[in-house]
Amino acid sequence: MEIDTLIHADWVIPVEPEGRLFEDYSVAIDAGRILDILPTAMARQNYRAKKHHELPGHALIPGLINAHTHSAMALFRGLADDLPLMTWLHEYIWPAEKRWIDEEFIHDGTQLAVAEMLRGGTTCFNDMYFFPDITARVTATAGMRATVGLIVLDFPTIWADDADAYLHKGLEVHDQYRNHHLIRTAFAPHAPYSVSDPPLERMRVLADELEIPVHMHVHETRDEIKQGLQQHGNRPLQRLSDLGLLSPSLLAVHMTQLEDSELTDFALTGANVVHCPESNLKLASGFCPLARIDALGVNIALGTDSPASNNDLDMFSEMRSAALLAKGVAGDASAIPAEKVLSMATINGARALGLSNEIGSLLPGKAADLVAVDLGSPDTLPVYHPISQLIYASGRDKVSNVWIAGRQVVKDAVLTTLNLEEILLRTRKWQAKIAKTREFPGYKPG
Ligand SMILES: [Zn+2]
Repeated sequence: MEIDTLIHADWVIPVEPEGRLFEDYSVAIDAGRILDILPTAMARQNYRAKKHHELPGHALIPGLINAHTHSAMALFRGLADDLPLMTWLHEYIWPAEKRWIDEEFIHDGTQLAVAEMLRGGTTCFNDMYFFPDITARVTATAGMRATVGLIVLDFPTIWADDADAYLHKGLEVHDQYRNHHLIRTAFAPHAPYSVSDPPLERMRVLADELEIPVHMHVHETRDEIKQGLQQHGNRPLQRLSDLGLLSPSLLAVHMTQLEDSELTDFALTGANVVHCPESNLKLASGFCPLARIDALGVNIALGTDSPASNNDLDMFSEMRSAALLAKGVAGDASAIPAEKVLSMATINGARALGLSNEIGSLLPGKAADLVAVDLGSPDTLPVYHPISQLIYASGRDKVSNVWIAGRQVVKDAVLTTLNLEEILLRTRKWQAKIAKTREFPGYKPG
């Protein structure tokens, strides 16, 4: 049988079922989908492929899914570090956004982020930022997947003036990408402290109608809880529950401040948690009790958060940080093993986004979103347990080839759909402009 592509690798890690490992296996791809996963010897007999990829020493895994980011903020990477969340937001990030964000910024910032993510084995991201239409266009042009957030805030920004306008513009973007094969949408109310009840109520009805997820920062810091108690008389999770927002379509990002009883109630709603360990650590937001949440059966996905608070979009380092931090917080070295954290970065992200029939694992019939990782270098040999090696010894620099819907977007570590030199040139122009004019209260030149 003649097909489009055959990829032969030392190990194929389908992620479903968790922990499964195939040695000397091949993946057969046709018309953008996985057709078959079978022993290499058999694959050579059964299929004739237009394209062959021989990947000795490599592991093949599903494309990684970054379940929470603000991608265009890549242009603010390293602008303000070593600050608590509210100081960072109010005194640095929000003023910088006000000064710099326009359509060109979003275009160039998203392209920079997409280049970084593809090279690091991320094939899909869940975004929350301004001009989601531009983020969608840039991402689709690069052949990458995204769920773009239809952002909602109470206060005016360059994207919209008030909550009604945010919702209206968001619905336009949703309509524009309704049937796109790479782009999906989700409502993205920023956080409990930045969106009031009426728009949240309206958004819940619309999300049910359109059957799209709701993506929100929830219980990120102690200050958020304090503010919720002062402004609304209850903790934000209680308020979201009263508004009917806790459901399987919710992606609750961060979740570091949790009482036992509210965690048990949350688990019963079927809502998803998106864990962003490096952003939580860097902003000292608190510790998400990952092992406890997992034990309650909650679907946990992983995200990097923005490249201004991380400061990268590296899902390999996020997986390692998640596994290590979970063990430290639980006081248990067996908490969140390597297989589980790989699931979080793949199939769990797909589940949270409502895309698990399409992506997140290597199964016949699913879209061919695959990442080849070279485990043959001095820092990853010997290989006794390939999945452990991926999490604890490997990194994004070991990603050699990436396919999305069967199209090769990274070939031998080189981007095939984007002009990297041009992206770097435009990034340097932004760097020069932003560096020259930053005027922040605590800014120390140097
Ligand atoms: Zn965030």
